[in-house]
Amino acid sequence: MFDILYHSLATGVVTTDYPKTPAQTSRQSRGRPEIDAPNWKDARAAVAACPTGALSCTDGPETRRVTLDLGKCTFCGFCAEADPAIRMSNVCELAARHKAELTTTIQYQLAPDGTHQALLSPPRAAADPRPAALDAVGAQLKARIAKVLGRSLHIREVDAGSCNGCEVEIAGLNSPVYDLERFGLHFVASPRHADMLLVTGPVSRNMELALRKTYEAMPAPRLVVAVGACGCSGGIFGTNYASLGGVDKVIPVDVYVPGCPPNPYALLHGILTAIDRG
Ligand code: SF4
Repeated sequence: MFDILYHSLATGVVTTDYPKTPAQTSRQSRGRPEIDAPNWKDARAAVAACPTGALSCTDGPETRRVTLDLGKCTFCGFCAEADPAIRMSNVCELAARHKAELTTTIQYQLAPDGTHQALLSPPRAAADPRPAALDAVGAQLKARIAKVLGRSLHIREVDAGSCNGCEVEIAGLNSPVYDLERFGLHFVASPRHADMLLVTGPVSRNMELALRKTYEAMPAPRLVVAVGACGCSGGIFGTNYASLGGVDKVIPVDVYVPGCPPNPYALLHGILTAIDRG
């Protein structure tokens, strides 16, 4: 007993100071692929290696448009293995309020042999296609949420068909290291007590009704965070006989958190982004 007490005291505080201090992710951990766009000479090998369609290219008569969609990317690293112009970073804070922000496009002059020549436009995120009026409604909703909820928030998690990789990372949020409760954020067992829905997995057709009912059981105002590549877009599963695709195919999503799975820092970043505390 005294041994345990001694070890606890000797260990000291293990809780991260994030977001006051930067995320301390290991150098080995997988994050966003980084493309050396000015020196990239041919996207085709990397595009062919990408199993999810996150990296794609469309050729016009003289130009090539390369697109990287982090909402689909599983951080598998196959593109980096196929092409030295791509390297896997450990950047994990990628949450976005609008799905379009997850997509980066690069344009090249196309050579007759199918390789690239000059870089026509550097990597840039796609413009948000949502009308301005919708953003105004979103801002009003956020202000109302801040007024009603103050600094405390209850979260209900729904596994809509995930492999449970995201659940393992979500469980880490309650560990002493990440300690979600220091923000006044708590997981609850009932959607009737929840202000935020954390949804993982591509929405399987069998879970569609349960997800809708869970959302409808929550009191307004309510927030929805789509977790992982599957939650953002359907991920490796996409849309098929068993999967409807991303969470936004079923209920409105406020924040998208890319990753496969997103680590606890990425999840914290997404949750704090949803409540404007990131
Ligand atoms: S890391 Fe994997 S999923 Fe992401 S773009 Fe590269 S090959 Fe595609």
